[in-house]
Amino acid sequence: MSEHQVPFHLPDIGKEEISAVTEVLQSGWLTTGQKVRQFEEHFAAQVGAEYAVATNSCTAALHVALEALGVQEGDEIIVPTMTFAATAEVVAYFKATPVLVDCDPITLNLDVAALSAKITRRTKAVIPVHFAGQPCDMQGILEAAASHGLAVVEDAAHAFPSSYRGKPVGALGDITCFSFYATKTLTTGEGGMATTNNQARAERMRRMTLHGITRDAWMRYSDAGSWYYEIGAPGYKYNLTDIAAAIGIEQLAKAGRFLEARRKIAAAYNSEFADLPELRLPLESPGSGHSWHLYVIQLDLHSLRISRNGFIEALKKSGVGASVHFIPLHLHPYYRSRFGFTPADFPVASETFERIVSLPIYPRMTDADIRHVIESVRTIVAEYRR
Ligand SMILES: *Cc1c(COP(=O)(O)O)cnc(C)c1O
Repeated sequence: MSEHQVPFHLPDIGKEEISAVTEVLQSGWLTTGQKVRQFEEHFAAQVGAEYAVATNSCTAALHVALEALGVQEGDEIIVPTMTFAATAEVVAYFKATPVLVDCDPITLNLDVAALSAKITRRTKAVIPVHFAGQPCDMQGILEAAASHGLAVVEDAAHAFPSSYRGKPVGALGDITCFSFYATKTLTTGEGGMATTNNQARAERMRRMTLHGITRDAWMRYSDAGSWYYEIGAPGYKYNLTDIAAAIGIEQLAKAGRFLEARRKIAAAYNSEFADLPELRLPLESPGSGHSWHLYVIQLDLHSLRISRNGFIEALKKSGVGASVHFIPLHLHPYYRSRFGFTPADFPVASETFERIVSLPIYPRMTDADIRHVIESVRTIVAEYRR
């Protein structure tokens, strides 16, 4: 084992987050309150959206987003196969059908031509995922959606802060969902946010994150006072706590610095691996701002005598934590047995899955950590080059 260990991820939590949480703990108000409202306002401003609704996860945000769009049993929702469980499981919550789509071989984002081919009379929405933080071809997706009357819910779990043709990811589609899970670019431990420019949908999502409860305006002037509420619909328990929001507010203030740190690491990897034809490197599409949540290399298995799993094992021996994003949905037992999928149904994702490795990329990496990852990768490639 190597002396120098570089974990795959470490969250960047400083004294600001710790004292903000302490303040909330001492305040007497722990759950959803002023801190959540403040976090929502700051976040909406940062991503250029009119409304932001905080949730306790991105999965919850995706769920209430589909609910606000009126998704029903039997609807079809188009989802990339190259994603995490959450993107498609929320579709199943409605007894609607997730219709999987293959990915682009370079960006690993949803393939827009494949998307158009999957649209039917039952298709209600599409959920593009901005893979690794690289924005999807939103023009192509929005055009396809507009011509078939589909809603667009962006899974932006990787895409804070990302931009597309000069606009931040946050209000490009109908509703955009972010994740503040421990490994994401901004963390509150667990948490999420749904952003939109549509007031009615924002209000619906806000109510549904807290039991479908309403406190109508006239109540404020009635004798019923502050204890009165009405249940407008059977909602969920998806609200964010003030404890988590206090962390989020501090993380948001550091987001620019965090992005600079990840950009610097991506630039170092890109230049230090540029002479290795055995690796395909992730590049920023022209006109896009990449959040660099993930740095995913693709191994050229024809020019290497090692598998992807072997490569990750070798990195581990060298003290470098690595991961795989993602095992495509169609290769998982549930999707295989429910839909009868075979790898050939999504050839690009199936083939690419065998070759992808996610390398560490986070602000707490030191220059020595970055060098160690670069040297470890170069050593393994040199050792297993054909
Ligand atoms: C992390 C992730 C999610 C889920 O986020 P949670 O906040 O953990 O619910 C959804 N989609 C993608 C692509 C993710 O990577």
